[in-house]
Amino acid sequence: MSLTPFLDLRHIEKSFRVRGKQLPAVRDVSLSIREGESLGLVGESGSGKSTLGRCAIGLTAPDAGSVRLLGEELVGRSRRDLRPIWRHMQMVFQDAGAALHPRMTVGRNVIDPLVARRLVSRREGWEIARQLLEQVGLHADQAEAFPFELSGGQQQRVMIARALAVEPKLLICDEAVSALDVSVQAQMMDLFIRLKQERNLSYLFISHNLPTVGQIADRIAVMYLGQIVEVGTTQRMFQNPYHPYSKALFASVLPIPANVSARRELRALPGEMPSPFDLPRGCPFHTRCPVAVDRCRDVRPQLRAIDVDHQVACHLA
Ligand code: SF4
Ligand code: MG
Repeated sequence: MSLTPFLDLRHIEKSFRVRGKQLPAVRDVSLSIREGESLGLVGESGSGKSTLGRCAIGLTAPDAGSVRLLGEELVGRSRRDLRPIWRHMQMVFQDAGAALHPRMTVGRNVIDPLVARRLVSRREGWEIARQLLEQVGLHADQAEAFPFELSGGQQQRVMIARALAVEPKLLICDEAVSALDVSVQAQMMDLFIRLKQERNLSYLFISHNLPTVGQIADRIAVMYLGQIVEVGTTQRMFQNPYHPYSKALFASVLPIPANVSARRELRALPGEMPSPFDLPRGCPFHTRCPVAVDRCRDVRPQLRAIDVDHQVACHLA
């Protein structure tokens, strides 16, 4: 594994205007993913995970900060100028059914990005589509089918085949298995893990489901109210997380999710997550933190290294 970051996010900020007010979704987030590495991104719903994923791939423009892919700045580029970088990273969403073109065959859906950009001829593309469908565990002849003829899990596999068609190095998966039945989720995770091994694929794997993330991630980042509060190796995060918020999250799951049937959701913490419209001063977690000290109410802690591959934003670290 190379130490050069493949994808490097620095000081990303993103707010949305909602009902006339500014809603901060991502607040000063810095993260990097090395080549061949998989980073899990976890946190309760509304913590900013999806917005961060969209900023990483250029679907959402950050208000401030930098996104570098192999050293090249992506922020400020037009959609058209972003197109070449989408050969390196692709995104897989939760709702595959909605993302597929209903009147195109499955095969056309898979290779459309290639054919549209004249990267391959239609005939070559068709062969590629058949091969990709087999790689994601479908039958090559399903290229002839239409999306509505497939199950939700099969549609999700088609979306993955489509993402793989451009041979990306990074897949950004946003709750990519969350809508599927538990048994299908397990099959999809097996597929993601196999692709990681076979293609040296990296992932930014976004999910609220810790055991799922634990199966694929080398490191895990925890988000709370738009900020990263801790990043560490998967083993470290499951066995000995530092931040009081991570502790509460990981306390509800098994040490290492060897057993895929042992899935549990993030357990609700005592107290309410403050409204993002009215963020607390100081540490964003101080309203729920069992070990808060005076300083936590006034000073926002910065993310800093406490060990190799382990960063925490907490005054007590
Ligand atoms: Fe708790 Fe203070 Fe650490 Fe925030 S900085 S997590 S409030 S101890
Ligand atoms: Mg989301």
